[in-house]
Amino acid sequence: MTKKKMALSTQIFIALIIAIIAGVALTARPEIATTYIKPFGTIFLNLIKWIVCPLVFFSIMAGVISMRDIKKVGVIGGRTVVYYMCTTAFAVAIGLIFANLFKGVFPVLSTTDLSFEPSATSVNFMDTLVGIFPSNFLQPFVEANMLQIIVAALIIGFAMIMINERQEMDFKAINTVNDICMKAMEMILKFSPVGVFCLLCPVVAENGPQILGSLAKVLFVGYLCYTIHAIVVYSTAVSTLGNLSSIKFFKGMLPAMMMAFSSASSVGTLPLNIECSEKLGADKEVASFVLPLGATINMDGTAIYQGVCSVFIASCFGIDLTFSQMLTIVLTATLASIGTAGVPGAGMVMLAMVLQSVGLPVEGIALVAGVDRIFDMGRTVVNITGDSSCAIVVSAMQRRRESKK
Ligand code: ASP
Repeated sequence: MTKKKMALSTQIFIALIIAIIAGVALTARPEIATTYIKPFGTIFLNLIKWIVCPLVFFSIMAGVISMRDIKKVGVIGGRTVVYYMCTTAFAVAIGLIFANLFKGVFPVLSTTDLSFEPSATSVNFMDTLVGIFPSNFLQPFVEANMLQIIVAALIIGFAMIMINERQEMDFKAINTVNDICMKAMEMILKFSPVGVFCLLCPVVAENGPQILGSLAKVLFVGYLCYTIHAIVVYSTAVSTLGNLSSIKFFKGMLPAMMMAFSSASSVGTLPLNIECSEKLGADKEVASFVLPLGATINMDGTAIYQGVCSVFIASCFGIDLTFSQMLTIVLTATLASIGTAGVPGAGMVMLAMVLQSVGLPVEGIALVAGVDRIFDMGRTVVNITGDSSCAIVVSAMQRRRESKK
C-alpha cells in the first residue's frame, strides 16, 4: 500500500491556516501560545540558523570551484548586484508613489508624546563597507555575519581555482561537505509545517486583529505595493529575462513565501528558497551565490516599507516631502536595504537612517512600531521572492551566454 505524500507547499499552507485559526482562538489567553508553542518555533528557526552559515560557506565555495573561472564569477556577481540595485530602487519608488496617492486617507496620529531611542541609527555607508570584510576567520560564523561569510567563501574559492590552474587538484571533499550540509538542511526543512505553525500562531495570538486598528490603511497601502511590485517587476523579469512563466514562478515559490511570511526572516528562509529556486530552474552554482547574497543585501519589501512609512510619518508631522527629498529617500532606502540584516525587525531600525536623510524626526518610528511585525511578514515575502527572481534571471542569462560561445 503506497500512500501519496502531500506536497510540502500544501502541508505548509495547511499549517499556516491552522496557525491563524489557533492564534485567533488563543487571543484571550496568548500566554498559552507564547509559553508552549513559540519555543518549538524558536527551536526550528535556531536549527535553520545553525545550518545556514556552513551551508552558505560550502555551497559558495563548491559553486565557485565548479565555475572554474574567476571572470565568470565576476560576471554573475556584477549582474546580480545590478539587478538587486535596480529592483530595490524601483521598489522604493512604488512605495513613495502609492503612499502619496493614498496620503489623504492616512490617519494623522498625534506626535506630541513620542519617545523612540534613536541610538541604533547612525549607519554610515563607509562603516557598512568596512564591515563586509572579516578580520578574523571564525568571527563571521560566530556572529552569523552572512556578508563576511560570502567574502571569505569567495576568497578561498578563488584561491582554489588558482591552485587548480597550476596543478589539477581534487576538491571532492568540499563537494562532499556541501552535500552533507544540504542533507542536514533537508532533514530540518521536513519540519517546516510544524515550524510555520509554531512561529505564526503566537504572533496572531499576541497581537490579535485589533492591532490593525488605526494603521489598517497604511498597512493596506504597504501590502498593495508589495503585491504590485511582485506582480509587475518579478513577473516581468522572470517571464522576459528568465524564460519562466510567472504563474509557474509564484506557484513554485509558495513554500518559501509562506515560510518567509511566518518567520519574517530572509536568512531563516534561505535554505527553503534555495530548494524552491533550484526546482524552478535556477542553476545550482548561481543559486548558491545569488541567494545568500540576496538574503543579506536585497530587500525590496523593506525598501517599499521605508518609502510608505516615510510619507506616513511625514504627514503625521504635517510635513510635505519635496521631490528632491523623495529622490534622497530612493537613494538612502536602496542603501539602507543593503545594510538591513535578514532577520525580523531589522528594516524598522534602518528606517531611522532613511528618515534622518531627509530631516524627518526619527521618533516618528514609534508611530509604526506597533504593527511592524505585520509589515515585516509581508516585506520578507517580497525580499526573498526578489532574490529568487534574480537567481532565475541570472541563470537564464548565463545559459544564453554559454550557448553563444
Ligand atoms: N525581516 C526582513 C527580512 O528578513 C528584514 C526587515 O526587517 O525588513 O528580510
